[in-house]
Amino acid sequence: MRYEEYDSLIMGEENCICYITDLENYDMIHLTKKGMELYNISSPEEYIGQKCYRILQGLEEPCPFCTNKKLIPGEKYCWEHYNEKLNRWMGIEDSLVQIDGKYFRLEHARDITLQKEQWKRLSDQLTVEEILVECVQILASEDNYDTAFQRFLERLGRYYRANRAYIFEFELDKGLIHNTYEWCAANVTAEIDNLQNLPIDCISNWLKKFKETGEFFITSLNQVIDKESEEYKLLVAQGINSLLAAPLYTDNQIVGFIGVDDPTNSTDDLTLLRASSSFVIEELKKRRLIKRLAYVSYTDLLTGVKNRNCYSEVLQKYTAKPPQSLGVIFADVNGMKQINDTYGHKYGDKMLTMVSDILKTVSEDSIYRIGGDEFVILFENIEEDAFQQKSLELKNTFDMDRECDVSLGCAWMDQNPDVNQLIVLADEQMYARKQSYYKKVLENGHQTRVGIASEVLKELKNHQFIVFYQPQINIKTGKITGAEALIRKKGINGELIAPDRFIPYYELEGVIRHIDLFVLESVCQTLNNWKKNDINLKIAVNFSRVTLLEPNIVERIVGVCKKYNVEPSQITLEVTESISKMEHRHLHYLIESLISHGFNLALDDFGSKYSNLSILNELDFDTIKIDKSLVDQLEGCKKSQIIMRNTIRMCKEMDILHTLAEGIETSGQMELLADYDCEYGQGFYFSAPVSLDAFNQMLSEEY
Ligand code: C2E
Ligand code: MG
Ligand code: MG
Repeated sequence: MRYEEYDSLIMGEENCICYITDLENYDMIHLTKKGMELYNISSPEEYIGQKCYRILQGLEEPCPFCTNKKLIPGEKYCWEHYNEKLNRWMGIEDSLVQIDGKYFRLEHARDITLQKEQWKRLSDQLTVEEILVECVQILASEDNYDTAFQRFLERLGRYYRANRAYIFEFELDKGLIHNTYEWCAANVTAEIDNLQNLPIDCISNWLKKFKETGEFFITSLNQVIDKESEEYKLLVAQGINSLLAAPLYTDNQIVGFIGVDDPTNSTDDLTLLRASSSFVIEELKKRRLIKRLAYVSYTDLLTGVKNRNCYSEVLQKYTAKPPQSLGVIFADVNGMKQINDTYGHKYGDKMLTMVSDILKTVSEDSIYRIGGDEFVILFENIEEDAFQQKSLELKNTFDMDRECDVSLGCAWMDQNPDVNQLIVLADEQMYARKQSYYKKVLENGHQTRVGIASEVLKELKNHQFIVFYQPQINIKTGKITGAEALIRKKGINGELIAPDRFIPYYELEGVIRHIDLFVLESVCQTLNNWKKNDINLKIAVNFSRVTLLEPNIVERIVGVCKKYNVEPSQITLEVTESISKMEHRHLHYLIESLISHGFNLALDDFGSKYSNLSILNELDFDTIKIDKSLVDQLEGCKKSQIIMRNTIRMCKEMDILHTLAEGIETSGQMELLADYDCEYGQGFYFSAPVSLDAFNQMLSEEY
């Protein structure tokens, strides 16, 4: 479009300051002659294709006050703006115009500097009482405290025609003062950042005057203050020549002040400052109360870190919008219950504070206390190396600390990190390390009872746990080919307690390793005895994922086999699908090293829960144990039959050596499974799990 065509689009407004810009890239498309005059532009070449924020406002990036997003077709948007490049006030009217089917921004601007000045003159003539009423209204009517103080200071600053207006608050216990709010006139640089944590002594002069006269003022810096004093240096550094200030009182104590720098109106009248101070203090008190409430509802008051409430919110936030990368450290205080029991809660609290102080050395504000003795640290948008470095730093600090004993777990992820998964990973690593802690404590013969771990060990020693054996049958021949070892616990009255009752709890407490290794040891003993009688069967042992997370677990398992002269090929390690939650690299390393030692690996309970098929692809299992829930539905359910038949077929095609169906209870199920070529079976149809003696009896009948 030519220049004239744009002008015709503006329809008779060519004598106004008017321009058109591209909404997408801020390019200037058109500027009226009047506008060119105002900006000293001689031809359209000087602005066409240039950015509007550069030409019109002298900025290097889009204006923070840009109204593009507020524009709606067919509606006008009116506002006022002080243009710093022109040093003028503009009354502005924005709308959207359509050119060739695309919307552009059209802006009309009017120079309203004169009106503004008139209004200002008028408003300056208002009495102190009227301004005070206005100030009080501002403070009382704004919902947002920050905006209220900001607007209040602006009113105050404009009344005194000052360069700056401000509020300082004291932190009396630390002897510090802070500039908490500031308003600056146009072209005056902000100082608020330079005026934090100042020693209260640097205004001792002021305090004296506040107490004596209720105010403090300097009419000319050079005349009144000792040039060597800190106070002088501070004011000079800010380019201040005169100032007015009035104290803020609470309970007869000065807790801050409000003031203005370099006033040019009412320079000797502090009435407005003094009169508004009591309203300011009331609002400050309210703001503190609200801040305190917010603090209390998000903070763990014992340690000062964030609380569970805050943790839930941040998890929700990360779930809805994951950061680019996320690192999680899980920290759990070892033996917390013990510490409380032995040394009392006061010491327990002290311990938690000490632990959180150590955690604070690696994170300023992302530590959460999520349970009595559990902490989580979340590192948002952190590189993997930096995260590992922090984790290591923390580990070293705890290792060196003589008082705080903490188990740590860490996990990091990028590309849409799943916060919940990361927490599970970090938590698991922490549990694994906790097991080494329990072990260490027990090996060192610690005097203190480490709760459940020592209880379990004591019960093991007292033969309260028994290993039962459930035969595994070759479906074609009907012969026993091996057994699964299943733990039982003796109750007080000699009754047998099923593992489902205690295993989940032991896993949670991180003590399941004792059970798993005990079963392995008993099984190796049995295999060793059988060998003497020329019986060569395999025995399957269940291993919890938590046990497998333990460092050096493979060496430990191999060690037990060696002790009883048992070949690893006689042992099948049963794991469940949940093992896939383990950190990827660690899981592969673990499985490969078990296989390389010659152990057999079975995937237990296949088909019971999520049936994550990719696990079959990823890990080299030699046996798949099809869950009882699929076997249960076999008879009379066409769909179950299809699933069963195809699962068995799939395993064969994937070169998974063996399939075993669990929980077979009827001959009907047996026949169907035989039909589908399922190799092995286990279930009450053959035998429930029985004691070793009973199992040996079965074997002797068969062999
Ligand atoms: P699992 O490894 O899937 O073991 C099979 C469970 O099914 C056993 O329950 C067994 O008694 C039961 N079962 C076998 N055939 C039938 C049947 O025909 N009908 C019915 N209704 N049930 C049958 P159990 O012994 O109660 O063990 C439950 C679970 O506890 C085991 O499931 C295993 O996950 C866990 N477990 C047992 N011993 C240990 C152990 O030493 N270490 C670990 N980590 N877990 C163990
Ligand atoms: Mg099992
Ligand atoms: Mg099972």
